[in-house]
Amino acid sequence: MQPEILCDVHLTAMTLSSTATGINTRRKEAWSDTFRACAEPGCHTHFNRNKGYVDIRDSRILDHKHNWCREHKEPKAIVAVRFGQPVWQCLHESCLSRKNRLGETIRVGQIVRATHPKHGRFRIWSIGEDGFTILQMVGNRGEGEFLMDLWEQIPVDDLSPFIPAPSAE
Ligand SMILES: [Zn+2]
Ligand SMILES: [Zn+2]
Repeated sequence: MQPEILCDVHLTAMTLSSTATGINTRRKEAWSDTFRACAEPGCHTHFNRNKGYVDIRDSRILDHKHNWCREHKEPKAIVAVRFGQPVWQCLHESCLSRKNRLGETIRVGQIVRATHPKHGRFRIWSIGEDGFTILQMVGNRGEGEFLMDLWEQIPVDDLSPFIPAPSAE
C-alpha cells in the first residue's frame, strides 16, 4: 500500500491523477508525464516521483523546493502533517520498509508495537534514512481504534509488527 501524498502548499491529500504534456524549453523536446494533482481550487501543484512537487501552468513546469532522498536521488513526498509541519517520506520501495534487529519488516502505514523507551501501539507515517520512524499513537475507545494526537520518533530497532491477540471464541 502506497502512502497518501499531500500537496506541499495546502497539506491536503492529492486525489486527482492527471497526465500533463508540454515542451521542454531547453531541449525543445515534448514531454508527457502522469502526476497527482492537488484538489484545492486554484492550486497548480502536481507531484510524481520523477519530478517531485512542481507547478504546471500552460504546459510549463516550475519546480518547487525539493527534499531529496540522498540514497535514491529522488524527491520525497509529504505523507502526513505533525503539529502543522510536513512529514516527508521517500517513496522508493527500499525506503518504505526496513528490517529491525530481529529481521522483522517494519513498513510505512503499518501498526507496530514499541518496546523501548515508549510502550504502546503506533501507526508509522515515515521511516527516515537514519532509521528513525515518525509514529502516531493508536488509541481504542471501545468503539474502535483512532489516532491520538501523540507523536513519537523511535528507531526501527525498537519496534516490532503488531500482531493482534487471537480473539477468545
Ligand atoms: Zn494545493
Ligand atoms: Zn529513498
